[in-house]
Amino acid sequence: MEVKNCKECRRLFNYIGGARLCPDCKSKLEEKFAEVKKFVEDNKNASVAVVSEEMEVSVQQINQWVREERLIFAEGSMVMINCESCGTPIRTGRYCDKCKNTMVNKFSGMYQRQELEKKKDEKDRARMRFLDN
Ligand SMILES: [Zn+2]
Ligand SMILES: [Zn+2]
Repeated sequence: MEVKNCKECRRLFNYIGGARLCPDCKSKLEEKFAEVKKFVEDNKNASVAVVSEEMEVSVQQINQWVREERLIFAEGSMVMINCESCGTPIRTGRYCDKCKNTMVNKFSGMYQRQELEKKKDEKDRARMRFLDN
């Protein structure tokens, strides 16, 4: 377990992964998320800027929820974010379908490379142990 400062309130807390928020701020953020989600559902044509202003959340935070695929703006709404790879407008997630597909192929290649690196690492470590003696 790691102890870190909460990026909201600066308090120390036991960091268990994910956003660097203490349990208090995290639950506050979850409450906010529920409100924002409801607002977006009730105001289908609201842009990110409007949601941000009305709900007092940063545009960055809204985009993050959208990227995490937790917040989905309705079909036909004006809200679009861009695919991080090719810039095509998308509604949720980080990449458009096309890039997602390309990436699946790339990732499987990357995984194989990682396996090779791991083997190399183990060899290096074995050598290091030898030097320690
Ligand atoms: Zn906090
Ligand atoms: Zn794309």
